[in-house]
Amino acid sequence: MSENPHARAQQLLMQAVVEGLQPAEEAWLREHQASCAECAREAAAAQDAVRALKSVTVMAPRDLAARTQLRMRLRAEDLTRSASGSLWLWGIAGASWVLGLVSAPLVWQVFSWAGQNYGVPKLALQVGFVLWWTVPALVAAGVVLYQRMLSRGNRGA
Ligand SMILES: [Zn+2]
Repeated sequence: MSENPHARAQQLLMQAVVEGLQPAEEAWLREHQASCAECAREAAAAQDAVRALKSVTVMAPRDLAARTQLRMRLRAEDLTRSASGSLWLWGIAGASWVLGLVSAPLVWQVFSWAGQNYGVPKLALQVGFVLWWTVPALVAAGVVLYQRMLSRGNRGA
């Protein structure tokens, strides 16, 4: 292999985030970062982005989920009786959208960082980014509509 060491360092950096490194690879990467300011800076930036992303996806949902769950549970009991039980699914759709919105800037950071390192076309990144937070909401909305169709069918029968 005739890879240059900086390219290898960046590849290992990405690998460390996604699947972790072998001890030998980790040692090599640490050694390279000690002697290469640019790769060290890049590693720090990547770690910041990942750490920020993790703290948002852990903290925000926990708080949000706890609060919505409580509210949903309280309402669910009424709603199951009043036959419009699909309302709580609307709540999930809304919550997942809000969640996507909250994490969007950080996700974008990670995406563009990956794009720089892997030369992914900007358009592909943008599409992936948009899908990141529209798909969960669309899926939830689809489930809601499906449920409505089902309950309408049941009522007729
Ligand atoms: Zn380097």
